[in-house]
This record gives sequence, C-alpha cells and structure tokens, in this order.
Amino acid sequence: MGFEVSDKVREINTRLEAFMQEHIYPREHDWNEFTLNQDNQWQVPDWFDGLREKAKAEGLWNLFLPHEYQPWSPGLTNIEIAPLFETMSKVMWAQAVFNCNAPDRGNMEVLAKYGTAEQQEQWLEPLLAGEIRSAYAMTEPQVASSDATNMELEIKRDGDEYVLNGRKWWTTNAVQERCKIMLVMGLSNPEAERHRRHSTILVPRDTPGITLVRPLRVFDSYHSPGGEAEFLFEDVRVPVSNMIKGEGCGFEIAQGRLGPGRFQYAMTLVGAAQRCLELMCARAEERVAFGEKLSKKTSVQHEIARCRCDIEQARLLVLQAAEVMDREGVKAAMPYISMVKIVGPQMAQNVADRAMQVFGGMGVCQDTMIPDVFTHARFCRIADGPDEVHMSQLAKLTIRELTG
Ligand SMILES: Cc1cc2nc3c(=O)[nH]c(=O)nc-3n(C[C@H](O)[C@H](O)[C@H](O)COP(=O)(O)OP(=O)(O)OC[C@H]3O[C@@H](n4cnc5c(N)ncnc54)[C@H](O)[C@@H]3O)c2cc1C
Repeated sequence: MGFEVSDKVREINTRLEAFMQEHIYPREHDWNEFTLNQDNQWQVPDWFDGLREKAKAEGLWNLFLPHEYQPWSPGLTNIEIAPLFETMSKVMWAQAVFNCNAPDRGNMEVLAKYGTAEQQEQWLEPLLAGEIRSAYAMTEPQVASSDATNMELEIKRDGDEYVLNGRKWWTTNAVQERCKIMLVMGLSNPEAERHRRHSTILVPRDTPGITLVRPLRVFDSYHSPGGEAEFLFEDVRVPVSNMIKGEGCGFEIAQGRLGPGRFQYAMTLVGAAQRCLELMCARAEERVAFGEKLSKKTSVQHEIARCRCDIEQARLLVLQAAEVMDREGVKAAMPYISMVKIVGPQMAQNVADRAMQVFGGMGVCQDTMIPDVFTHARFCRIADGPDEVHMSQLAKLTIRELTG
C-alpha cells in the first residue's frame, strides 16, 4: 500500500494549486455576496464562466473521469484523481470551475458507461464541454428513498414513447436555467424481481409536463446557483431511445453511479476539512484573548491536534479506497467505499464545528467557508444514502468476510 504521488500528478496539482491561489481564493468573498443575494437566485457571477474557460484551456478540466473512460477521460487513475480532488475542494464551489461537481460528474459517468452513441453525442459531449448542466432525479417525497427499490414514479411504454407520471424532490441542479437534461429513475416493470423493476431515462428539462413545485431550502439556504427542488411529472413523454441501458437497469445504474463518485465525495470532505484546519490555525495564531494568542491555549491546541488526526485518518482511508478500486475494481473496493462514506461526512462536520468555535462569531457568518462545510457535511450524512444504510452494508460485508 503505497500512496506516492507520481510526477504527472504533482505537476497537475501544482498548477491546480496555483489556479486556486490566483483565481479562486481571491473571489470567495465575491461569490458569497453574489450567491447569498436573493436577487441573483440561480445565477452565477459574471466572472464565473470566464474562469471555467480558463480552467479548460489550462487542461484543469474533467479531472474526475477515470482513465477507463477514454477518449473523454484525461487519463488519470482513481488514486491519481484523489489529491487533485482534495485541492479543488478547499473552496466549496471550485469543483464547478473545473467541471468536476456533483451531480454532473456522476451523470457524465453514467452516460460514458451506459449511454448509446446517440445519447453520448447529444448529452455527454455538451456536459463534458461544460455547455449544459444536468440533474439526477431519484428521491421521492412519499417513500423512504434510502431504499432505491421503493421509487414509484411510473415509466410506461406507449408505442415509440415512454410516459412518466410521479413526483420527485431533492433534485439538485434542475431548478437552474443551465440544466438541460434530467436522468430520472422510475418504476417501469412492477412485476419484475425487486432489483429489476426500475429504469433510468433521459428527460430533457424543457419537456412539457414537468412542473417545478418549489425549491427546497437546506438549513435555510436555497443553495443557489445549484439548488434542490421538488418536481411534478404529468404525462411527460420522451422517445424510447432515451432509455439508458435498458428497461429494468435503473437500480444497477443507481449503484454504478456511486463507485468513483463516493470516494470523490469523501475526498471533497477531506479537502474542505483541511481548509477549515488551515483557517483555524491562522486564526488561532493571530487572535489574542486574555493576554495570549488563542494558539497558546491548551484547549485550542487539542482541538487542532484532533482535527489533524481525523483528517489524516480519513485521507488515508479515501486513498486506500481509490487504490483498491484501481487494483481490483469497484466490487472489491465496496467495503472501503462504504467506510469512506461513513467516515468522511462525520469527520468534516466535527472539524468544521471545532473551527467554528475557534473563530467565535466570525465562524458562523458568511466571512469564511466554515458554515458551508458544516452544513454540507451534515447533509452528506443523509444525501447519497444515510449513514445507517452504509453501516448496515459494511457490517454485512464484514460478517461475510470474517465468517467465511
Ligand atoms: C442537499 C441534498 C441534496 C440531494 N440531492 C439529490 C439529488 O440530486 N437527487 C436525488 O435523487 N436525491 C437527492 N437527495 C436526496 C437524498 O439522496 C435522500 O434524502 C436520501 O437518499 C434519503 O432518503 P429519504 O430522505 O427519503 O430518507 P428515508 O429513506 O426516509 O430515511 C430517513 C432516515 O431513516 C433511517 N434509515 C433509513 N434506512 C435505514 C436503515 N437501513 N437502517 C437504519 N436506519 C435507516 C436513517 O436515519 C434515515 O436518515 C438530496 C438530499 C439532500 C439533503
């Protein structure tokens, strides 16, 4: 188990860090002021697209897509992608500058893995080029959606079309104008075996019959410009050629979407937590209370030490997940993928919480990214499958492994 960084990755990471220093960190304040202003809802600041063009021109683009997806992938393995994800996650919105943000990256991977040539040309290529955005609509308000086999939105064939009826919520990205395509999971074959009842189908966002019911707030924030929302599907018709992989493959696609995706999620949290620690150390060194720097107080030192231990443990675990995935494939890496999903969000939530305390009042306002990291880590313990589901999954794998 060696996690040495290759020369190639070191070179890319140096350029990525330089890009963050020059273009991202200086704009954090601007970003917060713009996106938190209700008048700008679902919009991006005018400099944002320019930065994306620059990142693309510098080859800092689509770095999330592992090498098996040639010709679209920049050719990196999972273990090579990991440190780059850490760097770009030190500011929560920076992944979007490099076209590496969720849920687009998971959707691009689905299309690269399962899409037909026609679907790839129509949807994958503009997504990879950063021209459009996408959404993944699985979760439904009326059923426990941590169990993907519960989904009820109906997908019914009618001649050369499928007709969709049902309700979705928590659909990230779909409320913004740039979102042009939704990957919708629904019930197509109710009589089939439980894991073969569902399908995932491509639905252009402007298809008649899709109604935006309401955007949802997360801890009182609309998460602009991405946003989460509830949608109603009423007699939404799409051609049969929009089906991904085939009827009954929805559960497989939901699972397949989450291999590299989950380790990237976890590395996002490592990067965000590392930034909180950097901010916390800088603050502790400059702030003086009761005649001494905060960094001289034992309680603050202990919190810094705990953060460093927690981050390093999570980082090593994520690297291990990536390494096993590269060497033995996603199936062999399943226990590690569950582990990073369980450990990553709780670690980042704890680190952000400690950083917040050291910052005092400033730690809970828009002047640092700390509250964003805290809320992001907290909802990650629910989104993409609640902690308990991953713990049960890991326990089952562990018992099987240890009892033969
Ligand atoms: C910010 C955010 C963004 C999201 N983005 C998307 C998106 O883009 N697309 C999308 O489709 N969905 C999205 N989701 C939805 C998310 O994936 C679901 O909320 C999640 O899968 C849980 O489903 P649920 O809300 O129906 O909770 P439920 O399934 O009702 O579960 C509720 C609780 O029950 C407990 N529980 C469930 N199963 C078990 C178990 N096996 N053992 C023990 N306890 C259990 C857990 O405590 C769990 O939190 C997003 C959610 C959030 C908060």
